Amino acid sequence: MQHDRRNFLKASLGSVAGLSTLPLIGGLAGCAQNPAVPASPRAAAVPQAKPGAVIKLTDRVRVITNVPGNVVVLATGDGVMLVDSGSAELAAVVQKSLGRDKVQTLFNTHYHADQTGGNALFATAGAEIHAHTITKQWLSADYYVPSEDRWVKAPPKEAIPKVTFRGKGEIKAGAETVQFGYLLEAHTRGDAYVFFRDSNVLVAGDVSSPQRDPVLDWYAGGWLGGRADAMDDLLELVHDQTVVVPAYGPVMTAAELKAERDYMVKLYDLVADKVHKGNSAKDMLEQKVLDTLGRQYQDPYRFLYDACKGLQAHYTNFGGNVV
Ligand SMILES: [Zn+2]
Repeated sequence: MQHDRRNFLKASLGSVAGLSTLPLIGGLAGCAQNPAVPASPRAAAVPQAKPGAVIKLTDRVRVITNVPGNVVVLATGDGVMLVDSGSAELAAVVQKSLGRDKVQTLFNTHYHADQTGGNALFATAGAEIHAHTITKQWLSADYYVPSEDRWVKAPPKEAIPKVTFRGKGEIKAGAETVQFGYLLEAHTRGDAYVFFRDSNVLVAGDVSSPQRDPVLDWYAGGWLGGRADAMDDLLELVHDQTVVVPAYGPVMTAAELKAERDYMVKLYDLVADKVHKGNSAKDMLEQKVLDTLGRQYQDPYRFLYDACKGLQAHYTNFGGNVV
């Protein structure tokens, strides 16, 4: 069954726009957690080079890699702009890779600790942090991680973004025009892209990281339909020569982003149809449904569980019944 994700999303926004629906959905039976399947680190399949190794993309743009994901650096002529700041454990490595460059502006693509862990370090040294309004909200309070059954303490106040946006925007950074915008429910509820338009480099965050399993932070609003739609939004920005930087792994071409979008649409159609027909994550694991699309998963149960929870959170898209 084909689902019109965007229309369904619009139709259901009124009921899913807040977390208020989640306690109800969390109680639905279809996605019962299977304690026999341990969670595994999904980045494990990505070859780990030395943290902090730098790849130059253009005269102005470079990527600091494996900190633990990618941190993108734009030279502005007056210091640098960063997109994401790495983990807290590797913030000093990011700083070392920057050399003498002072960070003036730091964008966060979303709230996860592997993208915001260096916020406090760079903000204390004078960086102004920009992020989507919902990313700021998420970072401003302790938050729960269901898959690990633990609470994460809010970071120190200097790590909280100061400048926020809700839709799209544009700023100048030296000679570069920097565009940024919201990617609705693609990975969390506060994802954003940053596009260095003149350098033709698009930073996609964890909305596209094809070298690891698609990560859907369902508790924070991420779901498969949002992920596929967000890739459509990204494809509107790129052209043949655009370099796309994912959260993890090597940079992508525009063609690879298009292929990833096509895969995500097929994945959505497959999993949504199965969930619509009442299959749980465990059912789909036993049926090996992911094998039909020809991609290996590091932790197929974890992906299916998160996908299932995200689809249930958007259950109104399915005519009101997915259980
Ligand atoms: Zn993330």
